[in-house]
Amino acid sequence: MNAREMPLPVHALPPEDRTLVEGVLAGQRRALAKAITLIESTRADHRARAQQVLNALLPRTGNAIRVGISGVPGAGKSTFIEALGVWLIGQGHRVAVLAVDPSSSITGGSILGDKTRMEILCQKEEAFIRPSPSAGSLGGVAEKTREAMLLCEAAGYDVVIVETVGVGQSETTVAGMVDLFCLLQLPNAGDDLQAIKKGIVEIADMVVINKADIDPKATAVARAQWKNALHLVRRASPNWEPPVLTVSALQKEGMADFWENVEKYRDALTASGEFAQKRRHQSLAWMWQLIEAGLHQHFNEHPGVRESLPRLSQSVERGLTTPAAAAHALLAHLKH
Ligand code: GDP
Repeated sequence: MNAREMPLPVHALPPEDRTLVEGVLAGQRRALAKAITLIESTRADHRARAQQVLNALLPRTGNAIRVGISGVPGAGKSTFIEALGVWLIGQGHRVAVLAVDPSSSITGGSILGDKTRMEILCQKEEAFIRPSPSAGSLGGVAEKTREAMLLCEAAGYDVVIVETVGVGQSETTVAGMVDLFCLLQLPNAGDDLQAIKKGIVEIADMVVINKADIDPKATAVARAQWKNALHLVRRASPNWEPPVLTVSALQKEGMADFWENVEKYRDALTASGEFAQKRRHQSLAWMWQLIEAGLHQHFNEHPGVRESLPRLSQSVERGLTTPAAAAHALLAHLKH
């Protein structure tokens, strides 16, 4: 760590950043939004400032329960998060909602981007809603969201909800940054099989079947199927059996039951020590992801690699050099 990267105490930060840190700590939504914009910036000077701001705030993070919610488009994620958020605020909580949507760089934000979503929650002083960063790759989006989550915690939000679309890799990524990962499902038979195929069941700490108001019978069938599906997979914790809940987000029914289960989960895993352990593992995994990304970038930008990569690639394609020998030769550049 060189001098530039050393964390500075709050009082040593430049005035602009100190104001930002103090604003975040005071729970000001404008300061929080500004700080998130800073961490989302790709400019090198902004990145350096963002890291100093994050470092200054780090001692005040970690106090929220982090809940991931995924579901296919139309499952009712925004309706559910709004109903839950309003209910939680009624219970005295402060709620931040973030999103991980790797497609947002292309579509301009397919989840949370639309201002009409969560209209009621948006207006609440105790809520903070932020659309997905549009940083391009899933890894980039996830990194910004992780950092935004820390900022929200420093601003005093005690519940952080991370929303993601139930398609592809983003679910695993979000499961890796939250305490509890919840699948929001429609009461359609067959949904469970899809999830098993995708390997998603394993990472679910809770399954919530939404739209129970439409067809209670189908909902009961779906619930039984999900319970079976969850029995088939190895549990992440011996101290937690993922429950299958039914709710109606539209009618705001089932919110208390949902939250009771979140608290039960937190209490059970706190008692066993797994709650803190999971966060430690997630932090280390995050560090390694950043190291790998950094090494990749360093490798790709190395002049020696740039020079010899086309020639060696061709040579491997033609069978003149083994992939192992080429990799070895390319990696050897990093030593210089
Ligand atoms: P998202 O794409 O997962 O965020 O889904 P939305 O929250 O936008 O919901 C998709 C549609 O389902 C909307 O028309 C909602 O009004 C409707 N919806 C959401 N939850 C429920 C529910 O519990 N019951 C019924 N009947 N409709 C719902």
